[in-house]
Amino acid sequence: MITSFHLGATRKPSEHAPILAEAQERPGTVLVDSGPSIAGWHMLETFIKCPQLFAYRYIIPRLLARERVGTISAHPGIAAAERRVELDTGGGSNLAGVRVVAGHDPLVLPDDEEEGSTEPTPEAPVAGPETRPRGLEGLAGESRALTLGTMVHIGIAHWYCRRAIARQGHIDYMGTRYTKESSFYTPLQAQAIYAARAGALGQYLLGEGQAIQQAYEKQYVNLDAAFDVVAVEHPLRLEVYGYPFTARADLIVRDRASGQVFIWDHKTAGRPNRVPVDYSMSGQIHGLRWHGMTHFPGTFAGVTLNAVGTGKNIGIFWRGSPAPAPAMTDRFPEMLRDRWHQIRGLIESGRHPLRYPQAMAQHACRAGGRDCVGHSICAFGAPEELREQIDLALASFGGSR
Ligand code: SF4
Repeated sequence: MITSFHLGATRKPSEHAPILAEAQERPGTVLVDSGPSIAGWHMLETFIKCPQLFAYRYIIPRLLARERVGTISAHPGIAAAERRVELDTGGGSNLAGVRVVAGHDPLVLPDDEEEGSTEPTPEAPVAGPETRPRGLEGLAGESRALTLGTMVHIGIAHWYCRRAIARQGHIDYMGTRYTKESSFYTPLQAQAIYAARAGALGQYLLGEGQAIQQAYEKQYVNLDAAFDVVAVEHPLRLEVYGYPFTARADLIVRDRASGQVFIWDHKTAGRPNRVPVDYSMSGQIHGLRWHGMTHFPGTFAGVTLNAVGTGKNIGIFWRGSPAPAPAMTDRFPEMLRDRWHQIRGLIESGRHPLRYPQAMAQHACRAGGRDCVGHSICAFGAPEELREQIDLALASFGGSR
């Protein structure tokens, strides 16, 4: 089912005064981490686009942090609850390499589970420019779209956490059951805290983020009564031919009438009603579908795109569950395996990460009239200081490349 809504005019973002002063961080109160899944589709998509960009974003930062590169682990939040189950492949031989590392099953919540830890949530992965080595500025993706997108995700996540507790009595977040609304910041508080952490750009975008959040709550305050919220920002992990494949499900919901489970993916977009057309071929959608099928066998009904308008289209929303392209659905595990083979081959080759293969294609290096974030390094070479830091890191592992 596809529905489209338009709220009409909303207040201008500039009319929303920042509430940073009111939003004090409180130890023990959860700030939902909406960060990326580090062995997920975005990483593989980057590699597919350009191995050199993959090195900039995933290999070099890890080397500079003095982490041995060779394995890329899943989100740490799921490690403690991992358990393996075999995937019912239905006899499909090409799926033989897929195993499910189910992690925490949010559909099964023991009644005697404890209220969540009072430990503060790890900080959202926001790195200030001063914390990154020269030459990698911008590679962390501090664009307007990413910062605003994270802010909107955080607001929506907190809204559903608190609504779920109010309506259902509990919510699952990162494998922990919470039963008190006060365990979570309000959406506006959470956005303001994130904005403060995100620096000047975050604070600049806070008014718009709050306007979007308020429009969202107004739009869906009654419309979202048809489903139960199963989990928020839930980490999922598959093992495909021995390789990890992780995802963060923005929201997992269960339809109250049918019992069907949907994985939602929030999308902030300047033109939200144009979002879904592109996704039937999307590896992200195919990946979430595989997670859904394997973690919720028999009840999974699809991936829902929850598009949220930004900029001039604040107050415009779109939801739909586009089907993945049928001829691509069963090839996804093999595609993952093949990409991981290539990644492993590059890492094990000992090749210097500044010499990884480059796309050398205008559509990748200068997409949509904008330079790739790695353009200056590729075009003019890495600054000497960055080179030295990488070489030092490689030497510290005893490697010469
Ligand atoms: S500029 Fe081109 S070659 Fe360099 S990282 Fe970007 S896509 Fe790859």
